[in-house]
Amino acid sequence: MNVLKQALRQKQFVCVMEFVPKPQRFAAFEQVMARSEFRGWPMIAAIGDRVGSAFDLSPEEAFTTLTRPVPALLHFSGKNRERQDLLAQLERMDALGLDQLLMLTGDRLPGHEPGQQPVRYLESVPALQIVRQARPDWLLGAALNPFKYREEEGGAQYFKAEKKLAAGADFMTLQLGFDMDKFREAFDWMSRQPSPKPLLACIMSLTRGRASMLEQVAGVTVSPSMHALMAAEEAVSKDHAQARSVERLALQIIGLRLIGYAGIHLSGIHEERQLQALEQALDHWEAKVHTSEQWAQAWAASWQMPGVPPVTFHPPNMDWRAGESRVSASPTEKLRYHLLSGFHAQLFSRTTLLSRAFGWAVQRPLWSTATGARWLHRIERSLKRPLVGCDTCGRCRLEDTLYTCPETCPKGLANGPCGGTQLNRCEFGDRECIHSIKYRIAKAVGQTAVLSERLIPCVEVGGRHQSSWPQWFEVQTPPVPSRESVTTMAP
Ligand code: SF4
Repeated sequence: MNVLKQALRQKQFVCVMEFVPKPQRFAAFEQVMARSEFRGWPMIAAIGDRVGSAFDLSPEEAFTTLTRPVPALLHFSGKNRERQDLLAQLERMDALGLDQLLMLTGDRLPGHEPGQQPVRYLESVPALQIVRQARPDWLLGAALNPFKYREEEGGAQYFKAEKKLAAGADFMTLQLGFDMDKFREAFDWMSRQPSPKPLLACIMSLTRGRASMLEQVAGVTVSPSMHALMAAEEAVSKDHAQARSVERLALQIIGLRLIGYAGIHLSGIHEERQLQALEQALDHWEAKVHTSEQWAQAWAASWQMPGVPPVTFHPPNMDWRAGESRVSASPTEKLRYHLLSGFHAQLFSRTTLLSRAFGWAVQRPLWSTATGARWLHRIERSLKRPLVGCDTCGRCRLEDTLYTCPETCPKGLANGPCGGTQLNRCEFGDRECIHSIKYRIAKAVGQTAVLSERLIPCVEVGGRHQSSWPQWFEVQTPPVPSRESVTTMAP
């Protein structure tokens, strides 16, 4: 049994060490991992995938480059990947005796510009289903980003996380964050799930330099008041700033343990000396902090400095918390939904006279010829592109996405948002996240169950850029797997 699975089963706190494979980092990382335990917590190497670019060393190559095997949690990122890429990784992992994966859609692939060469992202929800079916006994993780401060983006994150659980996730790792109220919120959300799973918290020691670097990382929130504190600490001295950042990291770990987190996913620790500094800070604070009240006082003090304005972890004036209802769809959004859903019912329900006639027409043998298929593709595209932004993916999912076309998301995501939104803005910066719009519509028309229960399969590479109509009427859409039917496949 692998170390992580065993620890999670036995409810033993774990220390997952993030490793972004770069040639110059191997020796120091191996030295860090030589401990095998940190404060008695089993250590597991989390090996990143395509963090920098598509040409990074793969997680399997990185694993085999290590001179001494370590317990490893490999990542799979869906950036510019298809189903067969995922299945190929499973086979390579089989050969190495590895059986645990953290499934991510992934942030923007460097060089991916919307409107230019399209880049496909294999979504984490169908990717989880694919692996769960192919390797029923593997330990599978998924990501959750609760550090969202507008209702639409936050609500949509939690709905998608429900799908990840239904698709077979055994545990969840949170996005890097510092807002302990949001860590508590995510923990409470998980506790309310029918079958709660362990949560790991991604954390790092935050200094001014890292805070600036994180500005470029999609989905990580460092507020202006946090930046101001980091700058003030660094103005005292680099050593002072470093010591305070490690102190906060130690307190964050203590706080996460008090909440009930199953472990930490430590980012930004590259050398043994960093781990030693953290160990000393933990020694110091664990001797002083035993209760939630003591912790809250110490945590608040660690973010204060005389003459520096109080720190808030959320962006200015944006402080949505889970459970708060603050938004509704605009009249235009509601009208659009009702018009499209009425139109869909008439033409695509397969039950009305009009729908049956349309189905009969698009299934004529004429459309199976190369020329006929090309024309049908053109007709569908020219009608649906101006209406919904359709890219003729070949398998229309509009009914499952409240008539918001997934192809209008730069990553083509249908099941819910990636973690990269910033106050509803898309990670690519050129639009509102389509899943925030979808959230507003679902809430306004009483269809939020669609966002948490419909697991939408990935579009297969061979089926793209052809008309979806003949297929739509050929076979009934496969039944959406229910939560029960999927989770019973899990170990
Ligand atoms: S539209 Fe939303 S899900 Fe798609 S890339 Fe942008 S932020 Fe991510």
